[in-house]
Amino acid sequence: MGKEIKIPDTYKYISAFLTMRCNLNCSFCLNAFDKNFNRKSFEEISGEQWVEALNKIESRSDVPITLTGGEPSLHKDFIYIINNLKPELNIDFLTNLSWGKKGLEKFILKVDPNRIKRDAPYASIRVSYHPEQMGNGIKLAENAKKLQDAGFSIGIWSVLYPSQQQLSAINQMQFVCKDAKIDFRIKEFTGEYKGEIYGNYSKFPGSAFNSKETLQGMCKTTELLMGPCGDVYRCHRDAFAGENPVGNITSPYFKIKDIFRPCDKYGQCHPCDVKVKTNYKQELGHTSVEIKNVK
Ligand code: SF4
Ligand code: SF4
Repeated sequence: MGKEIKIPDTYKYISAFLTMRCNLNCSFCLNAFDKNFNRKSFEEISGEQWVEALNKIESRSDVPITLTGGEPSLHKDFIYIINNLKPELNIDFLTNLSWGKKGLEKFILKVDPNRIKRDAPYASIRVSYHPEQMGNGIKLAENAKKLQDAGFSIGIWSVLYPSQQQLSAINQMQFVCKDAKIDFRIKEFTGEYKGEIYGNYSKFPGSAFNSKETLQGMCKTTELLMGPCGDVYRCHRDAFAGENPVGNITSPYFKIKDIFRPCDKYGQCHPCDVKVKTNYKQELGHTSVEIKNVK
């Protein structure tokens, strides 16, 4: 057991990418923003290793450990991790909820709904609805309802991907969720569609969307991002590329250094890092990283 890991006051998000594997294949997946992304190339640490590492974290109640991926439930110890994180840590997770009947029943049987519930303006289990992979969403809403009826804090989100199929499916899904009394929300699309860029990246012009020319700068994050092998990264670009880790959460010597670090990849930043968005208090104007001295 190593030293405790104190989350700096400036940090707003903790994300454990338990696995990059996924049982779906959405065309606008933010993991695969870079064409070289390979979900099967990431080594995964065990649930015991995750629990030992994450339990060293001292966080605030408004900064939960967010389990994500890929599809986090594909990690072989997903439930073990939830059930063994220390109670001082709040937990939430992102999922496509394409779990199958057995997976759903097992989760309801083994997980206490109160363990994944916190005082926040949105649900703790955040399900994503991807029409091109999930059809009309009725099955998804049924699954979400089962968890909700079992006491879980759950909501469904859909990305405003500008395809006609997505937009009309979202329109229908609003009514499906309303009937089932499930919180349904829409997220702004982040990325490129038919040559047009969606999202506000005005704070760091030219930083994202795979610019041919990359610049140097100094970059500081407000997020603790941990890849499937426990490596800690400066940003989502590095996390999905599996490059430039700044440490590993399982190391007894790991400590967060809340500092600006040199980077020569300005121009290839992941949109999630440089997009101007709402923060955890739903206030506009926050970006996940700060970048200075760009040249
Ligand atoms: S379900 Fe999520 S992680 Fe999986 S492919 Fe779709 S967007 Fe990506
Ligand atoms: S400048 Fe961009 S690529 Fe470099 S560390 Fe910051 S967010 Fe990542």
